[in-house]
Amino acid sequence: MDEELVSVNLKFLGTGDAFNTRAQCHACHVVRSPESTALLDCGPTALLALKKEGLAANEIDFIFLSHLHGDHFAGVPFLMLASVYDTPRTKPLTVVGPPGTEARIAELYRAMYRDISQRPLPFRFTCIETDGGEAIEVGDMQVRGFQVPHQQNETSLGLKVVTAGKSILYSGDTGWTEDLVEQSEDTDVFICECCFFETRVDFHLDYPRIAENRDRFGCKRLVLTHIGREVADRQAEVECEVSSDGMSIEV
Ligand SMILES: [Zn+2]
Ligand SMILES: [Zn+2]
Repeated sequence: MDEELVSVNLKFLGTGDAFNTRAQCHACHVVRSPESTALLDCGPTALLALKKEGLAANEIDFIFLSHLHGDHFAGVPFLMLASVYDTPRTKPLTVVGPPGTEARIAELYRAMYRDISQRPLPFRFTCIETDGGEAIEVGDMQVRGFQVPHQQNETSLGLKVVTAGKSILYSGDTGWTEDLVEQSEDTDVFICECCFFETRVDFHLDYPRIAENRDRFGCKRLVLTHIGREVADRQAEVECEVSSDGMSIEV
């Protein structure tokens, strides 16, 4: 295929925080390469958001999870259920996430659908757990996690996805870390969480912190997601690109 024609589509399906601020869905982004389709996080509203875009659960090949907070992974059981009954799938589904991913998804699925969760899935469901550091190859995508400061006792990852010669960096939920500067080097898009404006904490980012470091990021395009109430209230003052649900970009 002609290099010039290869493009990767990135669709923002969920750009809200845990509280659906701005009436936006929970964290979820779709990356589509010429060969496969992946989700970057899968919040509880993921299936709804996919359907609004005309996408079905059985079109998703991979789910890359930044961390195991409900607003980032609680949509996985709905995708599993839809893959059994709504749009049955036979092709495998692979989830890449931090340590504990497989057990937490099983626990949640069991809590939500006790009977159904006892039955074997009619498709191959694989979880690959990572502490970050190593590159994981799935189909034509490579994902590499790196640990970010967000939770005390569990691992939170930022994720870098490389596919079809394009690279997408996703912060997940994180406090400030210099690693964001390093990881953003030579990336095409950096999807960065922006929870706060006037509040500064060490486990989430605030807009002034992002703005003061904007010129240090090596990404071609910076897009803010996980928008919290403070940021929504002062969006007119935000000079970075702010995503909203349904936004689609060619990487
Ligand atoms: Zn979150
Ligand atoms: Zn979180």
